Amino acid sequence: MRPSVLDPLFAAVTTLDGVGPKVAGLLKTLLIPSGSDAALRVRDLLFHLPSGLVDRRRKAEIVGAPEGEISTLTLRIDRHQAPGRGTSAPYRVFGQDETGEIALTYFRAQAGWMEKLLPVGETMIVSGRVEWFNGRPSMVHPDFVASVEDAGAMPLVEPVYPLTAGLSAKVLRKGIAAALAEVPALPEWIEPGVAAKLQFPPFGDALTRLHGPADALDLDPLGVAWRRLAYDEFLAGQLALALSRQTIKKSKGRRLRGDARIQSRVTSALPFQLTEGQRKAIAEIHEDMADDDRMLRLLQGDVGAGKTVVALMAMAVAAEAGAQSALLAPTEILARQHAATLAPLCEKAGLSLTLLTGRDTGRARADKQDSIASGETDIVVGTHALFQDSVVYRDLGLVVVDEQHRFGVHQRLSLTAKGRAPDLLVMTATPIPRTLVLAAFGDMDVSRLEGKPAGRKPITTVAVPMDRLSEIIDRAGRALAEGDKIYWVCPLVEESEKSDLMAADERHRVLQQFFGDRVGLVHGRMTGDEKDAAMADFKSGRTRIIVATTVIEVGVDVPDASIIVVEHAERFGLAQLHQLRGRVGRGEKASSCVLLYRAPLGEVAKARIAVMRETEDGFRIAEEDLKLRGEGDLLGTKQSGLPGFRIAQTDKHADLLETARDDARLILTTDPDLRSPRGEALRTLLYLFGKDDAIRLLRSG
Ligand code: ADP
Ligand code: MG
Repeated sequence: MRPSVLDPLFAAVTTLDGVGPKVAGLLKTLLIPSGSDAALRVRDLLFHLPSGLVDRRRKAEIVGAPEGEISTLTLRIDRHQAPGRGTSAPYRVFGQDETGEIALTYFRAQAGWMEKLLPVGETMIVSGRVEWFNGRPSMVHPDFVASVEDAGAMPLVEPVYPLTAGLSAKVLRKGIAAALAEVPALPEWIEPGVAAKLQFPPFGDALTRLHGPADALDLDPLGVAWRRLAYDEFLAGQLALALSRQTIKKSKGRRLRGDARIQSRVTSALPFQLTEGQRKAIAEIHEDMADDDRMLRLLQGDVGAGKTVVALMAMAVAAEAGAQSALLAPTEILARQHAATLAPLCEKAGLSLTLLTGRDTGRARADKQDSIASGETDIVVGTHALFQDSVVYRDLGLVVVDEQHRFGVHQRLSLTAKGRAPDLLVMTATPIPRTLVLAAFGDMDVSRLEGKPAGRKPITTVAVPMDRLSEIIDRAGRALAEGDKIYWVCPLVEESEKSDLMAADERHRVLQQFFGDRVGLVHGRMTGDEKDAAMADFKSGRTRIIVATTVIEVGVDVPDASIIVVEHAERFGLAQLHQLRGRVGRGEKASSCVLLYRAPLGEVAKARIAVMRETEDGFRIAEEDLKLRGEGDLLGTKQSGLPGFRIAQTDKHADLLETARDDARLILTTDPDLRSPRGEALRTLLYLFGKDDAIRLLRSG
């Protein structure tokens, strides 16, 4: 149960003064990711940190008010100039001091209201950003206006928050102030030595400083207040991960030791030699599997690095040791593709493989489940359907998860609950920089597949503006004549958002006019069977161009496709572009990637495209991505599928991550059930950051 001391922070925002249902709705838009049905709580408002500061402390005379800066002026109001009817000109009020005259400019202002706000003849305090045009100063929408007597009410320094349409800064500030008043005294959960060394203020003080800054230092992400909260967030995350690790490691593993019988059949069935990197990763995995502890290993390898074979070699060992393996894919397409790739190899190696997805129903499903329960099946490939209650394994010894970042920590645990302490191998193609592996996956052992299989030709990347589309279509025609296969990626097929985006449907139609039924189409709104059929046609060569939305982003493997065209490349993030480009360059042919963009390009899009042209190294791209995004957005769930942080910014606070990891580990060695006073405080922390599913592990464990 959630400690009652947190109740005020978990109350609905509507319990706050000044927050009614309408404001609550706006706040929800602002603070809760769309699609989530999570309730909006006081806590969420408190974790919405300012992005900057209005500093009204500069008192200035008109002539000395610096361009583009906030100044507070004392003005005598001279005259109002209302715009003519039906014009879009702004409403202007002119005021002066000893040094000159300034225009206060308001758009869509109402005359009656303006006259009350800035009465002619009165002396008023007016604060806002001063801009100079042709030697004349103006101030657009002053953000504070008061009579001289009321000037004391003007906050000299005020935080600025990210807003959403319809929500004013004033209303948001009021809500946050009310929320601050609710912060209870909480027990300290940070180790005293750590808190002292890093000069952290207490939790409540940190919030107060961030929301009521005395100056810009108080809300610097590198300042102690922000760092304190970032540390709290990391600590909660690391503690949750450490608890899940503890649970997995506590249940004694088993020794899965092979005799190379099946492995050697697999290697001789492969049409290529394993790379050095693959051999090394396989050796590390086999070593983990052979000892008593449970394996908890992350296999990190760029797209096309050849992770699938590594997984197969792990599953071969499990089979040699008499145990079953499950390979879990995030989507139906990928599950099918894995099954299709593995099936011929499994057959030659004498392994029996079953594909199980949500699409299997009735008799067929029952048969498959029987085969899994009897142990006739050695390897089960599928989607999360693999872990439904109705699926019973005879003896599940190894779980391999592909692209695991799409699954939560808790889900990961439920996967391993199926067998007798099965080993866990997680494969990811997201080239996360080393510093972030910890944040995203916790304390796993890591194998890295460096380099690509030999013989890969570099991919030529070009950027071409949309108005040269017909040229690209010509080139596509020539490539088709030479027997090439082409991916053609469009951003989305939502009718509603079609406005200026060329939907995949439409592009499909256009390309068909040139190339007839050699053009296929696959997108997210098709049924599973339709998608499969489209991909199968492309793979077999019945179609030679496939127009696709980003359903092909992850893992699709058609080795003889050598060209990828990405439309609206400027709308994709770097990680996504890299994943997409990784679809080609897999065969013997030299490949190319055409980034079609709509001019003019913004700065960030320009930089992204430059990076893409410069390098194919996924890890470098990830580092560049991190730089370009700043804001710790790399772990934002949308782009990379990794769990996000609200407060911590991974580029600025990365140094705190290891301390948090060590601290979390240390606690669990001295107080594995979190029963000491500090342990109790840490439970509170877990609730505060929504990591309380980890607490369930304590109770059951
Ligand atoms: P990913 O790491 O992205 O999952 P895959 O396992 O799908 O990569 O491998 C990509 C392609 O490389 C596949 O066509 C696979 O058959 C091929 N491949 C894997 N290992 C090697 C190797 N050692 N030599 C040549 N080709 C390989
Ligand atoms: Mg893969």
